[in-house]
Amino acid sequence: MSNFMNKIEHIGIAVKSLDLSIPLFEKLLGSKCYKIEIIKDQHVKTAFFKIGDSKIELLESINNQGPIENFITKNGEGIHHIAFQVSDVDEALKQTKELGFRLIDNTSRIGADGLRIGFLNPRSTNSVLIELCSNEK
Ligand code: ZN
Repeated sequence: MSNFMNKIEHIGIAVKSLDLSIPLFEKLLGSKCYKIEIIKDQHVKTAFFKIGDSKIELLESINNQGPIENFITKNGEGIHHIAFQVSDVDEALKQTKELGFRLIDNTSRIGADGLRIGFLNPRSTNSVLIELCSNEK
């Protein structure tokens, strides 16, 4: 079996309010949020923190549609996804599919914080939403 996941790039956490959660995580992690970014086509506003070699991504819905709004309605706030760093997202999506996992994204797209991303279908990964990502080239 090929081993192409490099590290946990970030953990995504769904929150109702970035205004409330940013100071909370700044206090907890002892580091300042280094980037806030709106991703319109995913209906989210994101805030990033560095934690060692990884990151925490807070996600707030910017309207009453989209995946984060749905997630919070269903589950409440909490861990939304785990993102693994790979060297090539499209290649990794292809390999993952060949291994029998189901995909949400058949090809990569542009995500927050300068990343190229693609999601696996949580139905084939014990209900854990997994994102594959690489620095955009
Ligand atoms: Zn993410």
